[in-house]
Amino acid sequence: MDQKRQIDWEKLGFDYIKTDFRFISVWKNGSWDAGKLVEDNTLTISEGSTALHYGQQCFEGLKAYSTKNGDIQLFRPDENAKRMQKSCDRLMMPRVPEELFILACKQVVRANRAFVPPYGTGATLYLRPFVIGIGDNLGVKPAPAYIFCVFCSPVGPYFKGGMKPVEFCVSDYDRAAPNGTGNAKVGGNYSASLLPHNEAVQRGFADCIYLDPATHTKIEEVGAANFFGITESNCFVTPKSNSILGSITKYSLMHVAREYLQMKIEEREIPIDQLDEFVEAGACGTAAVITPIRSIEHNGKSYVFCKENDPGPVTKKLYQTLTGIQFGDVEAPEGWIVRV
Ligand SMILES: *Cc1c(COP(=O)(O)O)cnc(C)c1O
Repeated sequence: MDQKRQIDWEKLGFDYIKTDFRFISVWKNGSWDAGKLVEDNTLTISEGSTALHYGQQCFEGLKAYSTKNGDIQLFRPDENAKRMQKSCDRLMMPRVPEELFILACKQVVRANRAFVPPYGTGATLYLRPFVIGIGDNLGVKPAPAYIFCVFCSPVGPYFKGGMKPVEFCVSDYDRAAPNGTGNAKVGGNYSASLLPHNEAVQRGFADCIYLDPATHTKIEEVGAANFFGITESNCFVTPKSNSILGSITKYSLMHVAREYLQMKIEEREIPIDQLDEFVEAGACGTAAVITPIRSIEHNGKSYVFCKENDPGPVTKKLYQTLTGIQFGDVEAPEGWIVRV
């Protein structure tokens, strides 16, 4: 067992901590090089890089988990690899092969073993793969070269001392256009969400929920997490839309709901004025895991889904089963867990 770093694992938040190694591969003349681990955490790129001017970049987020017996494992990295290929397609960037993506993740975790939080702390090692367009360029066109990089940072449990329900408002802004880049994990969607997020926080909310950009009548998602609701008849409902980012956590929860908790599942439109149909609601994503939603405010009306500090029973069961699978305490569906 390697020596772990002196880190107060229990106190970790979601902040950048510089680790020892990151993986970098460069694309030039039609192919990615083999890639290597490097110690330098800075990138030197041309001032004309398309990533800087035209937002030609995408990213991913996944975690490495320590199990009870000391193994380290990734949760569905193949899904992140596939999603990043879709994002690359959308922005005319070269696809990173799935094997290179998973190899890079494994190498970064192994090289930074001392930063992987121990089992039982609730903390994990967050991996951040990304692709950026680089090289001398001026006009609007795809870059002549690209960097694929994976770096990592230990992060804390999203919930310190249990799941804390949050309050959301509904934004008048859109984070994406109806047939835009909402379904690709690209930085532009995030810079567009900074102002709406800030205004929601100013008004006393944790974050805002976006409506469908075409009609502003249906729920889409939260800035960095998908939405789900639980009906009285124990059905897991989540929005279907072309402009939301398909959360791997969300699709995993749908499987957990159906196969582990014998619930019904529905992926469909959710009118914002029909939130009364839900007895529980939550936001889900790799960083957020499951954030229970206490209330959503819309047009002066507040829809309430749980008591102040007490998530509903279904939300709790979903959370326990999903994190149980991720930390190796609950048997995983075939192919979901990749040992490092
Ligand atoms: C990354 C992301 C999510 C969460 O996806 P996961 O695969 O569950 O981490 C949700 N919404 C947006 C906009 C995202 O970028």
